[in-house]
Amino acid sequence: FGRPINELANQFNMIQSAIAGAERVFEVMDVKPEYTSGASEDGERELRQMRGEVVFDSVSFSYNKSTPTLKNVSLAAKPGETIALVGPTGAGKTTIVNLLTRFYDIDSGVIAIDGADIRTLEKTSLRRQLGIVLQDAYLFSDTIRENIRYGRLDATDEEVEAAAKLANADGFIRKLPQGYDAQLTAEGGNLSQGQRQLLTIARAILADPAILILDEATSSVDTRTEMHIQEAMTKLMQGRTSFVIAHRLSTIREADQILVLNGGEIIERGSHQELLAARGFYHNLYTSQFNRAAV
Ligand code: ADP
Repeated sequence: FGRPINELANQFNMIQSAIAGAERVFEVMDVKPEYTSGASEDGERELRQMRGEVVFDSVSFSYNKSTPTLKNVSLAAKPGETIALVGPTGAGKTTIVNLLTRFYDIDSGVIAIDGADIRTLEKTSLRRQLGIVLQDAYLFSDTIRENIRYGRLDATDEEVEAAAKLANADGFIRKLPQGYDAQLTAEGGNLSQGQRQLLTIARAILADPAILILDEATSSVDTRTEMHIQEAMTKLMQGRTSFVIAHRLSTIREADQILVLNGGEIIERGSHQELLAARGFYHNLYTSQFNRAAV
């Protein structure tokens, strides 16, 4: 499980890498890329600095156009809010974030960011303003410094290091013999899973997106690293609209809204206290599942 979002992140990174490549070429050629004019060749508008308000209005979607995957999903996230998506495997949590990034287009309804239907926005500019952080971090064969700088290509070394500090990554990086110049393998195999994740958090801090997509996978890292990751994630989420496919009880408890999905529908919504008091599906999930996974 968790595959779709990994694929998503990889596609996402490939696209960012393509953008990065193009920007580097333009830099060398000393010309400005054309996509700043407000309208691209295919007529889609570029999204300027986002505030991060996200609205789904009666969104329905099916991967195979026969069985519905999401049915009439409506949600509204104010800028800066944390939305926890919970529910059993296959409920549609990943699909919601897939749709937000426009890796798929919806069948009916509207998804809007800052009031603009995302179908009218240029995909690359949309995706550049979304940060995605997964436990299975995507790194490439280059130095640690360049892997972080990937978040924003014009960042200075000082900015890269400041982002690493905020992400609690500076400590372990400096202990490496080559420090920020340490070379990573494509799989990041020479770092621990937790360290890889701290690097992607640093990258996201540098990118400074208005909207974040976080997948709290459940695979284990040591307690100390787990604390570092949690702390860094909290800093990263500060002031950004965050959609969290949540597994940690602490995240869920502190979310502004919990959306409970089952069978492609939002069946309950509210705060942790409200949902517990309702003694419905969430209450059952909570007593059967989260207690054991509690951090
Ligand atoms: P969750 O993240 O809550 O586990 P998903 O959004 O991944 O759920 O999946 C919702 C449903 O859509 C599941 O029935 C899943 O099998 C199906 N699904 C997910 N991704 C795809 C895909 N790329 N193609 C077809 N069906 C998919």
